[in-house]
Amino acid sequence: MDLGDADFRKYQRQMTLPGFGESAQRRLKNSGALVARVGGVGGTVALYLAAAGIGRLTLMHGGNLTWTNLNRQVLMTQAGIGTPRADQLAESLRRFNPDVELTIVAADPTEDNVDRHAAAVDVICDCPPTFEERFILNRASVRHCKPMIEAAMSGMEAHLTVLVPGETPCLQCLVPEAPVDWSGTAFPVLGAVSGTVACLAAIEAVKVLTGFGRPLKGELLALDTDRHEYRKYKLYRNPDCKVCGHLGEGKP
Ligand SMILES: [Zn+2]
Repeated sequence: MDLGDADFRKYQRQMTLPGFGESAQRRLKNSGALVARVGGVGGTVALYLAAAGIGRLTLMHGGNLTWTNLNRQVLMTQAGIGTPRADQLAESLRRFNPDVELTIVAADPTEDNVDRHAAAVDVICDCPPTFEERFILNRASVRHCKPMIEAAMSGMEAHLTVLVPGETPCLQCLVPEAPVDWSGTAFPVLGAVSGTVACLAAIEAVKVLTGFGRPLKGELLALDTDRHEYRKYKLYRNPDCKVCGHLGEGKP
């Protein structure tokens, strides 16, 4: 699909980014992303991908909005408490950018539902609060050879990297087993921290989808927003990884 008049009007300020231009905008328009869990991180990732002019978004999230979500779910409102979060996000995104084609999946990612959605997109944005769901998405990323943006936060800290099957580590090269002390339901969240790592994740998704810029591959960005210390660590594949080890040698 080519760019239309409305695209030139809406996206001219990003098309003037050196190295971006019409070609990256066209690639974005013809791309799709799966955003799995649209909470404090995923909701904002979806918003900025819609803002940038992505063609298709698949939003996966089960459950209804609760009072405890409101400190970070900036696309949902108090009036929506008790109604499905995925639907509320979709409503906000449609108002914001009606040109984005939305697929709403009112369920969290599982082994049974993930494949058809992962197969239909060009990038996966990994934003659930539990390792169990992240591992499901990681396996789908490797099975379907789809790059995955790994964005996570807890308290004042956040982590970000871009995982490309066969080229970079997969999530389980880095975290072979879920930490036993991790509770996915009650960790502290400052909404601005989840929003910060979400914006960075959206930048990485745009890079991966368009070929623009330098994606954060083979490196982990660790953000400490308390001290404002931001560090990058080199990452390495595990040749014996049970998820991606069969893909053989790749670039780090
Ligand atoms: Zn691996």
